[in-house]
Amino acid sequence: MNISEKAKNIVDNCRFCWMCRHVCPTGNATGQERNTARARALAVSLVARGAEKLENVIENVYECMLCGACTNNCMTGWDPKVFIREIKTDAALSGMIPDYIEKLLDNYEKTGNVYGEVSANLPDGLQSGKKSDILFIAGQDARYKSPESLKGAIGILKAAGADVSMDESADDTGAALWFLTGKTGETVQAAKNCAKVMNGYKTAIVYDPVDLSLIRHEYKEWGIGVSARVYGFNEYLLEKIETGELKVKNKGKAYTVQDHYAYSRELDDVHTVRKIIAAIGVGKETMLHGKEADAAGSLIMNEYMPSVMKRTAENRWERLKNTGSRTVVTESPAEYELLKRTCPDGYEVLTTEQAIAENL
Ligand code: SF4
Ligand code: SF4
Repeated sequence: MNISEKAKNIVDNCRFCWMCRHVCPTGNATGQERNTARARALAVSLVARGAEKLENVIENVYECMLCGACTNNCMTGWDPKVFIREIKTDAALSGMIPDYIEKLLDNYEKTGNVYGEVSANLPDGLQSGKKSDILFIAGQDARYKSPESLKGAIGILKAAGADVSMDESADDTGAALWFLTGKTGETVQAAKNCAKVMNGYKTAIVYDPVDLSLIRHEYKEWGIGVSARVYGFNEYLLEKIETGELKVKNKGKAYTVQDHYAYSRELDDVHTVRKIIAAIGVGKETMLHGKEADAAGSLIMNEYMPSVMKRTAENRWERLKNTGSRTVVTESPAEYELLKRTCPDGYEVLTTEQAIAENL
């Protein structure tokens, strides 16, 4: 197994203490011990020592959502995501990835997106190629799998007076390949292509927190320069609300935020969405919120383990239901789609922009 000393160190320094065991959303969805960070570290440790073969543990590696709940709870301060990503890279380079992941990579090669979609339904009045000063990076989840998110996002940007352009190649930030294969040459190339498009604009607004985290953290680490001013979508909307360019009313409705892990754990931002909610209604917290919030699922993983993603979203609803609010507000198109499909009777799920739109 070809992984860095840093990754080996993380595997070796897992104390197998079990303190992260209860927080793994896929472990909680499958009820299987092997799906926890601790068990993954143990399996990888066996591979590193030659006592197990990579092909026997690789499926377990792809059952990790890379949500970082284990990292947030690791008693020794280690980040299991590091070795998970490196093992994916090793498996990709040595031809040991599972067939269902190979299929997604084939889709990417043929269509430019892992979902194999040949076109996206862009909202009226906005077509690729129309150039303004602001680039809106919807990301591939919204572009191909969540037309409602895309429509709502463009609608609220219009309401805020923002004239935005979109570019299909910028919607591929490299995030899908980063998830499926870690840092390969193709992942870095996709990131460079995205940055090149971004740098043709003064401002880039990034819709999906997974893309935003990649641009803010890994682009810098990989030496990919971004000259455009980069906003997270919520940051941009909050600025527009605070300057009065996006006029909202507070109608007193109760909302519960479903924190997305990329915002809360990777970007350390749990406040922006709450300031937006405070401007339009009343925030009601669920027990595990902010950095402690459980992930509600991944659309990429939904392609190869839909029943586990369904169960993950259902598990999340169990807590979200007990807040005194009937409306959950999501920060990512993936969590919006998965929570919407599992929404219990009497509840609703809205994107942040849909919540704002009902208070204009
Ligand atoms: S990153 Fe998330 S899904 Fe992966 S092992 Fe940790 S808690 Fe589980
Ligand atoms: S909390 Fe950290 S050290 Fe303990 S089992 Fe989990 S990953 Fe290993």
